[in-house]
Amino acid sequence: MDEGRVALVTGGNRGIGRACATALDGAGFRVAVTSRQGEDDGFAAVRCDQTDPAQVGAALREVEARLGPVEVLVANAGITDDGLALTMSDDAFRGVLETNLVGTFRMVRGCVKAMVRRRWGRIVLVGSVVGLAGSAGQVNYAASKAGLVGMARSLARELASRNITVNVVAPGLVDTDMTAAMTDRRRADVLAQVPLGRPAAPEDIASAVTWLAGDGAGYVTGAVLPVDGGLGMGH
Ligand code: NDP
Repeated sequence: MDEGRVALVTGGNRGIGRACATALDGAGFRVAVTSRQGEDDGFAAVRCDQTDPAQVGAALREVEARLGPVEVLVANAGITDDGLALTMSDDAFRGVLETNLVGTFRMVRGCVKAMVRRRWGRIVLVGSVVGLAGSAGQVNYAASKAGLVGMARSLARELASRNITVNVVAPGLVDTDMTAAMTDRRRADVLAQVPLGRPAAPEDIASAVTWLAGDGAGYVTGAVLPVDGGLGMGH
């Protein structure tokens, strides 16, 4: 039944977002991706910096014109700007919140109207184990990802009567550009706490996202699904 539904993946040009776009395409969805460049590279790509409200509106209009209204939103785009709280600037705190939390809200709000009209929708927010467990040096990032959980659960309640589900996938350590800059020591420290003993591949996250996007997950809403090799167990 997923055949032909329109799925939009934010930050779908690389990393976890790219893997989500590929997996959704493989499952029969018609996939569009956003990136800040917006160059087509196998998927319909639209330019969108989600910190800019005008770009969000223009991007969603372009997706609708090219593929139709968005039925599945995978809100994946996100950044880090790490530092200890004691010395973190307002700009570093605000910048991460603006992309990860406010920008995600803008994308969701822009997609919801058409979902309500069609009485069907799937919204999957990409959170993080860090939003539940916290992480020294990532107070801004953790706050943004924890915020996504409250956002998703409020949306789940608001939209359930319209057959729209809203869930969070919470990855642990995933090998992408975002984590490439970690020191060997930090990486080893994190991996030592992962019962499965390895980092995730982007495809591990994409597989959970694709399940949540499909008809088979129709009775799952307001959930936080860890895909973290056991790293966050108990949080
Ligand atoms: P990458 O750094 O590889 O990719 C980040 C993506 O987000 C890029 O596509 C980037 O687009 C996009 N993006 C960043 N800022 C903006 C913006 N202002 N507007 C629109 N798009 C933007 O990261 P990952 O693939 O690792 O991460 C994807 C998601 O998964 C993030 O939300 C991250 O927090 C989360 N996550 C990652 C983990 C990991 O270990 N890697 C663990 C837990 C969660 P562009 O190419 O244009 O810069």
